[in-house]
Amino acid sequence: MPPNSYPTDTTGVLFEGDTAAATVLKKIPDPNHKLELLWLNITLFTILHVSSLYGVWLLFTAAKWQTVVLFPAALVLTILGISGGAHRLWAHRTFKANTPLRLIFMFLNTLAFQDAVYYWARDHRLHHKYSETDADPYNSQRGWFFAHIGWLCCKKHPDVTIKGRDIDLSDLRNDKLVMFQKKHYLILMPLICFVLPTVVPMYYWGESLICSWSCFTLLRWCASLNIVWLVNSSAHMYGKRPYDKNISPTDEAFLIWFRVGEGYHNYHHVFPWDYKSAELGKYSRDATTYFIDFFARIGWAYDLKSVSTEMLRQRIKRTGDGSHPVWGWGDKDQPQEDIADTTITHRLKVNAS
Ligand SMILES: [Zn+2]
Ligand SMILES: [Zn+2]
Repeated sequence: MPPNSYPTDTTGVLFEGDTAAATVLKKIPDPNHKLELLWLNITLFTILHVSSLYGVWLLFTAAKWQTVVLFPAALVLTILGISGGAHRLWAHRTFKANTPLRLIFMFLNTLAFQDAVYYWARDHRLHHKYSETDADPYNSQRGWFFAHIGWLCCKKHPDVTIKGRDIDLSDLRNDKLVMFQKKHYLILMPLICFVLPTVVPMYYWGESLICSWSCFTLLRWCASLNIVWLVNSSAHMYGKRPYDKNISPTDEAFLIWFRVGEGYHNYHHVFPWDYKSAELGKYSRDATTYFIDFFARIGWAYDLKSVSTEMLRQRIKRTGDGSHPVWGWGDKDQPQEDIADTTITHRLKVNAS
């Protein structure tokens, strides 16, 4: 059985050799697990979302034009700190980066405030390795709300802690920048995620404190959180599975432009080492890949890992749900047997003389 591919009606064991996990991991969430709510997080997230709605109101009614124009750019940069930094660079090691680029990603990642890279990558490696089980921190089998934000509003399932101990994090522990951010997170995060985005609009274009705080800080952060969380919730439920129909992640069209390239989740769970997190043909919607490619061109990003066309074709054929798009005759994904079996009539007669 290939990695990341398993029938949905089994116990949920990911690898044939993973017998130890068989007693722990079930695809059906543990019905005896008692939910312990974290009321501080629930209160803070409620305040954040209400304040962000006020930020939307201010963005359309009171903010200066510079705030309105630069808001989408600030939002994209914030998401890049997760998609390009925590996700593709540190959690999956899909490419390598030199020190200046790693500093850029670390800055953007702190701007996104989704906990230190070290913890984000640990949870995300668990999510891939034990996907859809109780050891998956954002297990979508527990429902859309749990996978989206609910997992941050209650105590972890014990399986997350148990299996979390087996996840290899030695590369992150040997990464001085990752460990520096982890050690100083409670100083760096408030400064970069909250103080800086509030002060910059006030200083550079005379924005009011309330608009800077509500739009550039809270709304930017809240929107980036929800966009990233949609990958854990919606992109594990709604959409097509062109690469593997046996797993829940989907290639989901909803809000795909805002995902900064992280919406091709069926592809990503099948090939988590691909720096593009998608096929090249869908490049146009993938800002993260553009970002990495730009830095690869100037030599700051290197060792970019990707999937060969042949490997892709074989996987689509073996486990895809048949929805992989073929735009027409000559599409690179058109199966050879389809080409061989096609009837072509009225062929042009070539004059032999
Ligand atoms: Zn996922
Ligand atoms: Zn991932």
